[in-house]
Amino acid sequence: MAQYSGFNTTAVHAGQEPDPLTGAVIPPIYQTSTFVQDGINVLRAGHEYSRGSNPTRNGFETQLAALEHGTAAFAFASGLAAEDALLRALLKPGDHIVLGGDGYGGTNRLINGLLGPWGVTNTAVDITDLTAVGAAVRPGSTALFWVETPSNPLLGIADLIGWARLAHDAGALLVVDNTFASPYLQRPLDLGADVVVHSTTKYIGGHSDVLGGAVVVADRAFRGKALAESVGYQQFAGGAVAGPQDCFLAARGLKTLGLRMERHNANAQALAEWLRDQPGVAEVLYPGLPEHPGHALAAQQMSGFGGIVSLRFSAGEAAARTFAESTRLFALSVSLGGVESLVCYCSEMTHASVRGTALAVPTDLVRLSVGVEDLPDLQQDLAAALQRARELSGRAVVLSA
Ligand SMILES: *Cc1c(COP(=O)(O)O)cnc(C)c1O
Repeated sequence: MAQYSGFNTTAVHAGQEPDPLTGAVIPPIYQTSTFVQDGINVLRAGHEYSRGSNPTRNGFETQLAALEHGTAAFAFASGLAAEDALLRALLKPGDHIVLGGDGYGGTNRLINGLLGPWGVTNTAVDITDLTAVGAAVRPGSTALFWVETPSNPLLGIADLIGWARLAHDAGALLVVDNTFASPYLQRPLDLGADVVVHSTTKYIGGHSDVLGGAVVVADRAFRGKALAESVGYQQFAGGAVAGPQDCFLAARGLKTLGLRMERHNANAQALAEWLRDQPGVAEVLYPGLPEHPGHALAAQQMSGFGGIVSLRFSAGEAAARTFAESTRLFALSVSLGGVESLVCYCSEMTHASVRGTALAVPTDLVRLSVGVEDLPDLQQDLAAALQRARELSGRAVVLSA
């Protein structure tokens, strides 16, 4: 396969060459479960059965591996299916994970709820405190470090070079969930990580019309086996693969990732700067703001600050809830990373599974997934919702006085 130097050229062409049979510029969707054999085990192009390999899936995997600077990528039916396959490919009972505490609620549920009963333990740590990360290691049993940066929904920034050093000092691997940044803004494998996971449902698909996940590995071995071999075997033997239609949509979305991220970045930066001056807003969490504690680090390890902005309300939970239910353009829903703007009340939506634990999300916090619409329209929508949140929380104060 040709190697291209530019991100956007790679995104459009890697693994997406015209169909050699018909000349179709866009490779077809190979909607087939099985492939005819010209004799027993004589395969025309190496494909036997679509759980093992399918040209549409393989094209997307090649495209994503090239963009993440990995040696191989594996596409799954969802982000959690990808994470599950990765964890079971690498771990055995008795293993321990050093787990970034501020992360996707479903990852926490998977590691505690599904892997816990199989004898895998974890220690949740503050992702910004490398001393705490190092102190969480259990010599002899820590096998993985797992972190998300920017984190969800607090937008904390983890020092990936520091995390990779600590993981490797402990004889463990570093897995980075790169869903929020996407390979356009951050390439963890270049910073020392061993594995990247994605919910391709988010920025990679980019249009909120497909569910998917992926694992991308560096050229490294663990417990005597190449990572690509371990994860590839798990994908084939476990079978939670992404289907051809889903891979086609993810691949189509990935072609415009660079264009979309530029616009997500610009809209989010402008809204974050505007929001922090609005009455009733106690704090805006966005790594692109100079006062954000991870700003300098994010500027070093990312090439932009992304499209997710969280905000906290000085009047507390009631104002946050009213705001989240008052936007019109920003649709109230879980998920993120699509071209359309979304608003989420995380403590009871995406992060309901960690409610009441040490990892619970503040109840005065709302997360915005800033889309690619026109900035004045987005700003107007947020201004109206802020006004409503102020009116209602003001009335609550009057009523309780
Ligand atoms: C959505 C998400 C996941 C899970 O992916 P699904 O496609 O929903 O299974 C994992 N990590 C992050 C950061 C996410 O946002």
